[in-house]
Amino acid sequence: MADNWGEVPTDNYENPGNTPLPRTQKEIAAHWNERTKQDVFGFEGEVYFGALSSPAADSFIKDEYKGTHEASVTSVEQALSLAKDYCRFAWGKVIDHRGLSAGRSVMKLSAWMWLIGRDDLAELVVREDLYAPYGAPALKALCFELGWPWPEDDPAVRRMVSGDPCRPGCEEGCNS
Ligand SMILES: [Zn+2]
Repeated sequence: MADNWGEVPTDNYENPGNTPLPRTQKEIAAHWNERTKQDVFGFEGEVYFGALSSPAADSFIKDEYKGTHEASVTSVEQALSLAKDYCRFAWGKVIDHRGLSAGRSVMKLSAWMWLIGRDDLAELVVREDLYAPYGAPALKALCFELGWPWPEDDPAVRRMVSGDPCRPGCEEGCNS
């Protein structure tokens, strides 16, 4: 990743605030079940699982773990903090031209946005017309909405967020 990306402050996981997630356990489990049709690789599922505890989580896990799963994400602040850290990783995948990873990134970010009740952003970040190349326009839109940093000093990224190839004649996938 380009050095000019700068440091992204990582929120304090020890004291993340405790605004409860606006989704109930039942809603999260139902949403996950509904999303499995699109989420064939389970990218979003990883996020929903982190927000579920037993017994709501039990239909998704092996018998030996039923009754024991505890959610690791219970607050809006935790979900946002994880999403923000993940977003930095996602920009790396944009710069490295990793297609499957970029697809995974926007789906996971969409799941976190849904968890915190931001359906608008959950839909924004997976908009097909904002995907190419490598999810860059969608990530930029999400960062703009949340006031998060993005690698705006990188000239290639600046082209990609407008939907253009990283450079004219890119043969690493921007034009495919
Ligand atoms: Zn390219």
